[in-house]
Amino acid sequence: MRLRNIPGAKDAITGSEYVVQNPSECRGKWDTQFPQKNPLHIEVGMGKGRFLMDMARLHPDINYVGIEMYDSVLLRALQRREKLEEAGEKLDNLKFMCMDARLLPEVFEKDEVKRIYLNFSDPWPKARHAKRRLTSREFLARYKEILDPAGTVEFKTDNRELFEFSLEEVKEADWNLLAYSFDLHHEEEMVEGNVMTEYEEKFSSMGNPICKLIASYK
Ligand code: SAM
Repeated sequence: MRLRNIPGAKDAITGSEYVVQNPSECRGKWDTQFPQKNPLHIEVGMGKGRFLMDMARLHPDINYVGIEMYDSVLLRALQRREKLEEAGEKLDNLKFMCMDARLLPEVFEKDEVKRIYLNFSDPWPKARHAKRRLTSREFLARYKEILDPAGTVEFKTDNRELFEFSLEEVKEADWNLLAYSFDLHHEEEMVEGNVMTEYEEKFSSMGNPICKLIASYK
């Protein structure tokens, strides 16, 4: 994702009704952020938010929170969201927040999250940066602090090395690998109901196979 310092991004985010401004105050009471009390699913590293906007439209009985670290990127999601609203689409079941995912346990209570989506996470190819990968054992430990025991982490990428690293980390962290594919789009069962992310569309149109894993800790 190309990052630029976009003037006004911070102000747009601070003033937006779609963005949760003090996420740690919602800990244990995320239901209060939505009109309906429903299971909570989050995407970590949502980028411009297309996946979650599509998911929120398709699944009005789920509440979604999209987490993005950079305000310049989150601004793009807000602009897309505003366009949807102008076209009459409200998506009451979707909120965003600008935050580093390392802080997840400060923002969600134990068992509060039912599903975590990780889509096309940054690969951090240098070995010394492995802890920054969103599927590292360090991040899996954070997810365990917030995820319902019956909940899942779902990860998609076209980066074979990152995917193999992630399979290894799931094993090392003693999580259960419930399903996986090295070519999601050609696996009838796993691809059913798949919603493409922005990166997924780009990389699959270039011919890259998409890998997916689903894991739980219990
Ligand atoms: N999920 C989107 C997709 O599939 O189209 C965007 C993928 S993009 C490669 C990864 C995004 O994750 C970037 O926007 C980046 O800023 C964000 N990100 C990376 N590390 C993060 C972290 N620790 N906390 C929150 N967001 C993060």
